[in-house]
Amino acid sequence: MTITSLEYGVPAVAGGTPAKTTPYTKEQRYGEAELQQLREALEQGTLFYTGGRKVRDFEAAFANLCGADHAIACSSGTAGIHATLIAGGISPGDEVITSPITDMGSIVPILYQGAVPVFADLEPHTYNLAPGAVEAAITPYTCAILAIHLFGNACNLQALSEIAERHNLLLIEDCAQAHGCLYQGRAVGNWGRMGCYSFNEFKHVACGDGGIVITNDAESARKLRLATDKCYNREAGATSRQATFLANNYRMTELQGAVALAQTSKLNDIVQRRRNWCGQLLEALKDVPGIALPEITAGCDPSWWYFALRVEPAVLGADAATFASALRAEGLPVAANYIGQGIYEYPIFTQHSAFERGEHPYCRYAYGPGLCPTAEAILDTIVMLTVREAYTQTDLEETVYAIRRVAAWFQQQSQGGVA
Ligand SMILES: *Cc1c(COP(=O)(O)O)cnc(C)c1O
Repeated sequence: MTITSLEYGVPAVAGGTPAKTTPYTKEQRYGEAELQQLREALEQGTLFYTGGRKVRDFEAAFANLCGADHAIACSSGTAGIHATLIAGGISPGDEVITSPITDMGSIVPILYQGAVPVFADLEPHTYNLAPGAVEAAITPYTCAILAIHLFGNACNLQALSEIAERHNLLLIEDCAQAHGCLYQGRAVGNWGRMGCYSFNEFKHVACGDGGIVITNDAESARKLRLATDKCYNREAGATSRQATFLANNYRMTELQGAVALAQTSKLNDIVQRRRNWCGQLLEALKDVPGIALPEITAGCDPSWWYFALRVEPAVLGADAATFASALRAEGLPVAANYIGQGIYEYPIFTQHSAFERGEHPYCRYAYGPGLCPTAEAILDTIVMLTVREAYTQTDLEETVYAIRRVAAWFQQQSQGGVA
C-alpha cells in the first residue's frame, strides 16, 4: 500500500499548518482538597509524623488503595528504594539485578548500600526486564531483583516472581512510574516483598517530593519504619535511639503527607482517564507503518505515565530525534531518546566515579556500551508523548492525525517521493 502524504496535507515541518489547532487541555493538579488538608496539618500544631495524622492517614489510604497490608511514607521515591534495600538486608558486595532504562533514583540507593547494580536486557516493546536476561544474569552474589515498571506498564511479574523464588532472591518493585497500574488485577508493588512509589512533581500524583513503600510482610514493614528514620524506634510514643543498623533520615513531613493524602483520593480517577485516552490512542495508531507501538505486558492494566513508541528508521528514513521534531512542529509534546543512554553508559559507571577515593565493590565490574543491546536499541528509537489526564477527544483526534501525517510523509520521502 502506498500512502501519500497528500491525504493528510503537508506536515508543519515542510511548511504546512500544524495539526494541533488548540493547546492541549490542562488542569490544575492542586486545589481545594490539598488546601484543606494543609490547613488541617498546620492546625495540628506539629508537622512531625508521629505527632500529627496526615502522614499516617496517607499511609492508610495508599495501602488501602493498593490492597496492601502496610505502607510506609518517606521523603522521595529514591529514599523509598533505599529503605527497601536496607530492610531487605542488601549489603556491600551484593549484586542487584535491574534495568538499564530507569531514573537514577533506582540506581543511586544500590550504590549507597555498597551493592553492585547488574543490568539485564529488556523486552523490545514493553521496555521492561526480559525474564530470560534476568535469569542469565544471576551469579552466586546475586541477592535481589529490582524490577522497574517503566512508563506505567508492569514487568512480567509472574516470571520474575518465579525466578526470585527459584533462586531465593529478594524481589523489589520500583513503581515510581506506575501508580494505579494493575497486574493480574492487583496493584503493582504487591508482587515483590516491597514496592516503592514516588510522589515527586512529575508522577501521576505528587506532593512536591515524597515517596511511599507498600508491603504485605509485617517484619519488612517494621524494618522500613526504622530504615526511614535513622533506626530510631518511635513505637509507643517513646523514642529509642539504640541504632542497630545504618539508616538515613528519610521521613515525610505532615505538609507532604497532607498533600499526598488529598492526591491519593484523586488517583483512581486520574488513572482511569489516562487509561481511557491512551487506550484509544493505541487503537487509533494500530496500522501506521514505520512506528512500533508500546506493547502492554500480558495480564497488565497499565496506567500510562508516558506514551512511548519506537520509530522504525528503515521504513521512515528518519531517526527518533528527527521524527520527534516533526511532531513538535505539529504541536505535540514529544521528546526523543528518553534518558539518552543506558544507565551503565553514564560516567559514574564507565569511570567508576561514585566516590573520589577508596574501593567500592562496583569498581570491579566493567560497564559500558554494548551491555544490553535491546535497551540501547530502544533508547535509539524511542519517542515519548507526554500524557495528561485532562486530554480531551479533540486532543486525541489531533494527536492521531499528527502522528499519521508525519509518519506517512517520512515514509513517502524515504521511498523517493517528491520533497
Ligand atoms: C521518579 C523515579 C524514581 C525516583 O523518585 P524520586 O521521588 O524522584 O526520588 C525512581 N525510579 C523511577 C523509575 C522513577 O521514575
